[in-house]
Amino acid sequence: MIEHDVLIIGGGLAGMSAALHAKQAGADVAMLSKVYPTRSHSAAAQGGINSAIGVEDSWEVHAYETVKGSDFLGDQDAIEILCREGIEDIFALEHYGVIFDRDSEGLIHMRGFGGTDKSRTCHVGDMTGQTILHVIYEQLLKLEVQSYNEWFVTTLLMEDGICCGAIAMEMTSGKLEIIKAKSIILCTGGCGRVYEPSTNGLIVTGDGLSLAYRVGAVLMDMEMVQYHPTTLPANGFLITEGARGEGAYLLNANDERFMLDPRYEATTLAEKASRDVVSRAETIEIREGRGINGCVLLDCRHIKDRILEAFHQISELAKDYAGVDITNEPLPVRPGMHYIMGGIKTDTDGRCYRYNGEGITPLPGLYAAGETACASAHGA
Ligand SMILES: Cc1cc2nc3c(=O)[nH]c(=O)nc-3n(C[C@H](O)[C@H](O)[C@H](O)COP(=O)(O)OP(=O)(O)OC[C@H]3O[C@@H](n4cnc5c(N)ncnc54)[C@H](O)[C@@H]3O)c2cc1C
Repeated sequence: MIEHDVLIIGGGLAGMSAALHAKQAGADVAMLSKVYPTRSHSAAAQGGINSAIGVEDSWEVHAYETVKGSDFLGDQDAIEILCREGIEDIFALEHYGVIFDRDSEGLIHMRGFGGTDKSRTCHVGDMTGQTILHVIYEQLLKLEVQSYNEWFVTTLLMEDGICCGAIAMEMTSGKLEIIKAKSIILCTGGCGRVYEPSTNGLIVTGDGLSLAYRVGAVLMDMEMVQYHPTTLPANGFLITEGARGEGAYLLNANDERFMLDPRYEATTLAEKASRDVVSRAETIEIREGRGINGCVLLDCRHIKDRILEAFHQISELAKDYAGVDITNEPLPVRPGMHYIMGGIKTDTDGRCYRYNGEGITPLPGLYAAGETACASAHGA
């Protein structure tokens, strides 16, 4: 039997971050992942991370816009932590070695994203997630964090009402092992493959939601599923919101920028309105007959230079999977399932909960973070 203080199930950005902090705090920590950690789905994150590091920005404005973007359903204590502490986190990532793109003055470049007219998305080209995964993984190697790579957790273990470990299979040998720990942190990502179409890869199967549910943990807001407005019809691959953040237009079959239509209530943000607003507008356009083969068009022709400079990945995806050179012609896109905003209910310390017949109480030993968790920072 294997034993650790802290067992982190998941080696994506949430799992790696938890492992790094637990190790720095002096714990005997192990991270376990069904894929090699740097192949976790966080590698797919293209556009970047919102953080109010700009001189004309503040975490309060970021928090207000996040509350508004959640249709006032997000929990404001969680949103405050996300926006306030997110500033330091960007600088910490940079100090670890994440080479964020720079502006002409050498400051971290921030691109526009949905739901705000401020540019506050820090990024590494359009490969932000992959870059950060590799940098944090280097830190874990440096600190000699124990990593069980290509191990698959099948069951969480409970003893006297306390979560005390997991059963995991080493995938190369098929051997089952019991791993005991004082704290178990689920960082198993989302459940995108339950949906079709989805921007999520084949490994995103909601394992943590099921593991937690089976030991009685409360799931919440499971109906809150985010649809991303720009995905490729052939396979659901994502075309980052950063393209619209940099000024790309959405057109219907009549060549109209339909996001300017007041009935969609996108205000002056137009194509940069929050994702639910844009996805809904696209769906209405398509259903009312102004789509093209079930899609609308993303037009990047007028921002050709920026595309060539900072969007290599989406240019290649469009060429390879839609046969479109986005610097010369508009790209057919449609909404696709992207992110589960609900998940395993946690408080802002990551504690999981269970229902005791009258109300909910903490489930000792079990924590969750990342996309599998729901601290309710996202709302609708
Ligand atoms: C195409 C795309 C683009 C995105 N772009 C952005 C962006 O620009 N900005 C942004 O903020 N967000 C973006 N997101 C969302 C963001 O990337 C994810 O929400 C986030 O990376 C999830 O991180 P995670 O650590 O929670 O999960 P993941 O990175 O999915 O990691 C899950 C981990 O759990 C492990 N695991 C799962 N089940 C088991 C099991 N049974 N046993 C053992 N291990 C298991 C996996 O191996 C993996 O290591 C994007 C998402 C997609 C799909």
